[in-house]
Amino acid sequence: MLLSYKYRAYPDASTETRLNSALDTCRWLYNTLLEECNTARENRITPTMRETQARIVTLKDENPSLKGVYSKVLQMVNYALWGNIAALAQSKKRGRKIGKLRFKSAFRYRTLNYNQSGFKIDREHSMITFSKIGAIPFTMHRPYTGKVKGVLLTRHGDRWFVIVQAEQEFTGSKREGRSVGIDVGLTFFAVDSDGAMVENPRFYECSLYTIKKLQQSIARKKRLSQNWKKAKCRLEKAYDHITNQKKDFLHKLSHRYVDTYATICVENLDIKGLKEKGNSPRLHRGIHDASWGRFYSYLAYKAESAGTKFVKVDPRNTSQICANCGSIVKKTLSERVHECPYCRFVADRDYNAAVNIHRVGMEQPFEPVETIPLHHIPVMQVLSMKQEAPPFRAW
Ligand SMILES: [Zn+2]
Repeated sequence: MLLSYKYRAYPDASTETRLNSALDTCRWLYNTLLEECNTARENRITPTMRETQARIVTLKDENPSLKGVYSKVLQMVNYALWGNIAALAQSKKRGRKIGKLRFKSAFRYRTLNYNQSGFKIDREHSMITFSKIGAIPFTMHRPYTGKVKGVLLTRHGDRWFVIVQAEQEFTGSKREGRSVGIDVGLTFFAVDSDGAMVENPRFYECSLYTIKKLQQSIARKKRLSQNWKKAKCRLEKAYDHITNQKKDFLHKLSHRYVDTYATICVENLDIKGLKEKGNSPRLHRGIHDASWGRFYSYLAYKAESAGTKFVKVDPRNTSQICANCGSIVKKTLSERVHECPYCRFVADRDYNAAVNIHRVGMEQPFEPVETIPLHHIPVMQVLSMKQEAPPFRAW
């Protein structure tokens, strides 16, 4: 499994100029290849990744600045393009109404990908040397472990970061202990089969005012002027802040689950698609989709390193089946309470779903479910978790 370690990097002025021009060149390449793919499709030709790969070589005559960028980095531009094409096709399959891939503007293209080669890390002096770029010092606030497979160089506003991707080897020894089912949703971020209900973080909503102000300040400035660029950086920083808050929250929450349970069961969201949770406004769905996916991937890798089993179950009927007797109790998304007319079992709908997910994941038969008091967990409580936190039960 690959783990990413992100460190702040401090290129000097001349290195930064080279970085920016390399980004510009990669962006040009991305947009050119994308445009050629689009044209090919209009002429009913299906382009392939191999063809666009070969095209990079011939494009070097058209744009000599390509020669100034490490060849593997250019290859990764092509990989990224095809990754996006595949992701788009996947979303279309899932029923989203989306058009074409967009061309990348200067503010949307900010990562150079040094895969496998072209970099040299000097851990002792906290320095990474990149081919065609030069040496860049970085702060290794925590050391990485494992074999390095690649390094990304990325710009956020006026700050730079290096992301070291290292291959981890886990012993794979499994733990014994308790198990849990987790249902993710829109009302609560997560509800588990032990009765914990984790509030939905509203980081974006909390920063809405700041973001609005920053957007207004950009709108008032002359496009591409120094002040406009500065304001743009500030906005990007504000967005980064929200992303960091979210990641922090998800890290702590997933950490807590993996710490406490030997087996964690969740619904497979790929299958779930838009079927059930799709009645929400599109914007919010998008945001939640992303953070559920990230929550799962954090759970998955933390589970693997801790020897916890991570199970994804078929989401079919998890919210409709009565966890107590197995009857199907149809309900719409707005019905928050599960009330079984057959066995009189009454529970919060998400809790009922979590118990079902747990049962399916553990391949257990139906058993009477005891009605336990559910406990709310505010976002702040998750975030205030310290490294040596009390065990999960103490929530
Ligand atoms: Zn029932």
